[in-house]
Amino acid sequence: MKFTEEQLQNEELRLLEKLEAAGWSAADVKVIAPLTLEINQLKKEQDAIILAHSYQTPDIVYGVADFIGDSYGLSIAAKSTKASKIIFCSVHFMAETAKLLNPEKEVLVPSVAGCSLAESITPEDIKELRKQHPNAGVVCYVNTTAATKAECDSSCTSSNVMKVIEGMPQDEIIFVPDEFMAKNVQPLTDKKIIGWQGRCIVHEEFSPETVDEVREMYPGVKILAHTECSPAVIEKVDMAGGTKDMIEYIDNSKDEQFMLVTECGMVDRMKVEKPEKKMVGSCAMCPFMKKIMLKDVLQSLKEPREDQKVNIPADIANKARANLEKMIELTEK
Ligand code: SF4
Repeated sequence: MKFTEEQLQNEELRLLEKLEAAGWSAADVKVIAPLTLEINQLKKEQDAIILAHSYQTPDIVYGVADFIGDSYGLSIAAKSTKASKIIFCSVHFMAETAKLLNPEKEVLVPSVAGCSLAESITPEDIKELRKQHPNAGVVCYVNTTAATKAECDSSCTSSNVMKVIEGMPQDEIIFVPDEFMAKNVQPLTDKKIIGWQGRCIVHEEFSPETVDEVREMYPGVKILAHTECSPAVIEKVDMAGGTKDMIEYIDNSKDEQFMLVTECGMVDRMKVEKPEKKMVGSCAMCPFMKKIMLKDVLQSLKEPREDQKVNIPADIANKARANLEKMIELTEK
């Protein structure tokens, strides 16, 4: 696709206005401007929508995405869109969720990426756990494959986990696959939580010592951590929750300095969207989320490969959809 000098210059200005706060230069945006122009043009022609997780890189988030959010927010956006095609910029299990909620739509992932949590457990593991704990209900964190969801009673996210656990009729709950999240929710309920040994390789990186060091360096800083972090980290922070909870906390806070104990994409988002607030300390990169590049988005729009098309066998899809519907029912109760 050819663009005029004026179109390219306008695109560079549009991109720089957003990306400068995340550390991008004029030279950087010059490289990506032809790509974002072409992607946005193809999106219109194909009646496509691009959904991006907050952990994606800023060129995707601010260059081409129509909606940015966490896994639950993206699922709702996928369910409510009128577009006929969804390009899902995130890891594969989230695109599966979009497909489950939109079986009639074409859902594409620009790059097929896994997730250490989703890959830590299989449907056979769930069947074995059910044998060992026949009276327990089974709740899976949304970071699981459709095949695993199909064997569980309900999904949950970091924001509705307590509602789902308390809403289940059983007094014992098998909670998979996040070991740390299971430990973090146990003190909040009278039910017995039976965990699994899955971990997010990004959030397990943070240590309580880092939290202490940042507090010492930045007196008054508010430290917000994702519930996928270890209990030792969670007990030292000002708020534990999902990425949406972090945004709400910052929005409602008069404080100026924050450390986000999560993936670096969230820190970039806050630098761009809340320039009046200062983000301090460190963050960690998810190698799965960062697998998607603009060139992959363009290629998936132009000539999607079979592996980029999200398809779920009907028997798995029906059971996994029932699991998601149970989560929605328990959350809205
Ligand atoms: S941040 Fe953690 S939970 Fe999210 S996709 Fe990466 S590895 Fe999986």
